[in-house]
Amino acid sequence: MSKLSIAVVGAGITGLWQAYTHARAGHRVRLVEQSSEPFAACASRLAAAMIAPECEAEGAPAVVRDLGRESIVLWHKAYPGTIVNGTLVVAPPRDSSDLTRFEQMTERHEVVAAHRIAKLEPDLSGRFERGLFFPDEAHVVATEALEWLLCEGRTLGVATEFGQPFKPSGEDVAIDCRGIGARQDLPLLRGVRGERILIQSHDVGLSRPVRLLHPRQSIYIVPQGDGRYVIGASLLEREDDSPMTVKSALDLLGTAYALHPAFGEAAILDMGAGVRPAFPDNVPRALVEDGGRTIRVNGTYRHGFLLAPVLAQAVGGFLSDGRRDSPLFDSPRA
Ligand SMILES: Cc1cc2nc3c(=O)[nH]c(=O)nc-3n(C[C@H](O)[C@H](O)[C@H](O)COP(=O)(O)OP(=O)(O)OC[C@H]3O[C@@H](n4cnc5c(N)ncnc54)[C@H](O)[C@@H]3O)c2cc1C
Repeated sequence: MSKLSIAVVGAGITGLWQAYTHARAGHRVRLVEQSSEPFAACASRLAAAMIAPECEAEGAPAVVRDLGRESIVLWHKAYPGTIVNGTLVVAPPRDSSDLTRFEQMTERHEVVAAHRIAKLEPDLSGRFERGLFFPDEAHVVATEALEWLLCEGRTLGVATEFGQPFKPSGEDVAIDCRGIGARQDLPLLRGVRGERILIQSHDVGLSRPVRLLHPRQSIYIVPQGDGRYVIGASLLEREDDSPMTVKSALDLLGTAYALHPAFGEAAILDMGAGVRPAFPDNVPRALVEDGGRTIRVNGTYRHGFLLAPVLAQAVGGFLSDGRRDSPLFDSPRA
C-alpha cells in the first residue's frame, strides 16, 4: 500500500480516531483544529462516553448496534483506559412497562432481580426490584480518552496544529471531521443539543453506567473516577450550545436524586451543553468526494465514542484499496 499524506480536520473524537488509525497504518498525518486549546470547542469533551451498542439499540437502527459491537473490540485493543464493566438499566416499579419495552428492544442482557442488582451495585441495594444488565458494554472517561488519542497520535508522528482553521497544503487526502462545523458543506446535517452535569459524591459509589428509565426523562449516570459522575439525558432538536436552563438542570438532578437520595449532597462541578452532529437517520457517514481527495466523516449523533473507531477503520480500508463495503459509505437521505 502506498503511503499517503493526509490532513485530518477537527480534533474531536472522530478526528482523533482518524488521525491515530491512519498514522498507525504508516501514513503521514497532519491534524488541524481551529480552537487553540485542545478540546475546548468540541462536543466530544462533554460526552458521557458510553460505548453501549446494546442499550442504544433501544432507539437506534440495528447498524449502529452491529458496528458498535465491533467498536468495543477496537477501543479495548487500543486504549488501556477502556472500562468493560457493563451497563445496568433500572426503573422504579411504577415504570416497569418501560423496562419491559427496553428488554424487548435489546439483546445480550440478563434480567436481574433485587439481589443481583445489590451484588452489581451495592449502593443501589433495596432500591429496585428488577433491572437489565448488559455485561459486554464499556465506557471511557471522555477527556482522558481524547487526551490519550492526541498523545498517542503525536507519538506515532501526527503533526498537530491548533488555533487555526484548515487550509489545504497539498495533501493527497483531506478527512473532514469538523462535526457541526461542517454543516455548510453537508446540507443534511443538523444539530441535536445534549446537556450534561458533572457532579462529585463520595456518598454513592457506582462502578458502571446506570440508566434510570422514566416516562418523561430517562437519565444515565456514568462514573468518571474519584467520585465524579456525568449525569445526562437530553436530546433536544436545537442547534445551540448556550448554557443549560434551570428546568433542564432540575430534571437531571431530580432524576439522579430519585436514583439515590445521597446524590442530593453531591457537589456540582460543571454543567454544559453541546451540539451533536446528525444526519436524518441518525447514522454517521464517511462521504467520499473529489474522486477520493476529500472524505467527510460526520453525523455521529449520540454515538461519537461508540462509532469513531469503526469509522476510522472503514476510511482506512478505503485508503488502502478503495474498499467501500461498509454501510457507512452510503449517502444519507432526507
Ligand atoms: C451531553 C452529551 C453526551 C454524549 N454522550 C455520548 C456517549 O455516551 N456515547 C457516545 O458515543 N457519544 C456521546 N455523545 C455524542 C458525541 O459526543 C458526539 O457524537 C461527538 O462528540 C461528535 O464528535 P466529532 O468529533 O464529530 O465533533 P466535535 O467533537 O464537535 O469535534 C469537531 C471539532 O472540529 C473543530 N472544527 C470545526 N471547524 C473547523 C475548521 N474549519 N478547522 C479546524 N477545526 C474545526 C471544532 O473546533 C471541534 O473541535 C454525547 C454528546 C453530548 C453532547
